[in-house]
Amino acid sequence: MQAILLRQGAKQVELAQVPDPQCLPGQVLVQALDSGICGTDREMIQRQIVDVPRGRDYLVLGHEGLGKVVQTHAPDCDLQVGDLVVPLVRRSCGQCNACNTHHVDYCYTGKYTERGIHKQDGFFSEFYADSPQYLVKVPPRLEDLAVLAEPLSVTVKATRVAASLLNRVKFGGFYSQPGKRERALVAGHGAIGILGTLLLLEQGFDVYVLGRRPRGDFQRTLIEQLGIPYLDATTSQPTDLVKREGGFLLILEATGLSEVTFQLANYLSRNGTMVLTGVPRGPKTVQIDGNTLMANIVRTNQAIVGSVNAYTGCFHKALEYLAVFKKKHPQLMSRIITARYKPEEFEIPFARKDRDDIKVVIDFRKD
Ligand SMILES: [Zn+2]
Ligand SMILES: [Zn+2]
Repeated sequence: MQAILLRQGAKQVELAQVPDPQCLPGQVLVQALDSGICGTDREMIQRQIVDVPRGRDYLVLGHEGLGKVVQTHAPDCDLQVGDLVVPLVRRSCGQCNACNTHHVDYCYTGKYTERGIHKQDGFFSEFYADSPQYLVKVPPRLEDLAVLAEPLSVTVKATRVAASLLNRVKFGGFYSQPGKRERALVAGHGAIGILGTLLLLEQGFDVYVLGRRPRGDFQRTLIEQLGIPYLDATTSQPTDLVKREGGFLLILEATGLSEVTFQLANYLSRNGTMVLTGVPRGPKTVQIDGNTLMANIVRTNQAIVGSVNAYTGCFHKALEYLAVFKKKHPQLMSRIITARYKPEEFEIPFARKDRDDIKVVIDFRKD
């Protein structure tokens, strides 16, 4: 079968013939439909990070998938041939309590594997086999958007992490004032940022988005068309707003930039929580006012917390939210997947990232 893979030492991905996956007892075989390209893939290529499976010199990339079950060797599971599924990313270490209770995203040993990232082939291939516990069934009406379930699951988990911290400063069912909508800031507007914005809107926050795009820019316009204020980080806009109206109870970081992130802490309100989802790579020294940062965190009960990956419950929730978003924001949702390419055209999306791209998908359907 065809697969898009990265070889050790290579600076570019290639489309190659690889052996068909074996569907072992207890597994199901999935035919790929959509597989999303993400910043992590680009990072791995750029930095030549290839954590290959044992005994191999290449890794099939791709960790955001949507496929169709074509064969099942798992008679006890509720998946049937023809069902649409989205796969989880991480696979259990088999040793720790987190993994053994289906919370692989919180693996204690670090000996987990990740499909398309770390020691296991991903979903940029015509077929892949997996055990049903890592596959989430998708309603057919969501086929057009379900490839977004993985990035959305990451934001669902991040908001759950935030909620667990924010619940400690919720009194009598409310945060600062009974009935008041609290402010949330989303930093960055890639797929995670935009999906996170819709999610926080749905959760009842007054959402603001922080970015560096000029007026008229494609992504900025999409956000502004939702009626969401766009704060331009290149001006004093965020600082002025915080001075005038107070900070944000919740900040969702989706930039992957450490120099931006520590600055964001200044925009937190009292009792505020910031969740980080981006992973900056390589060493970088950033200058921060450590005393103010530490004093604010202590004096005003702030929390800065990281969140990675997602567990099955987040994928189920992500699919529910996708259905809600599709109904409430059809225009925006029809524009998040900004381009689709056939596997043979792989060189175009991997060669460069268009500034307007939000989510680019490799479409493995044969038609
Ligand atoms: Zn990703
Ligand atoms: Zn583990």
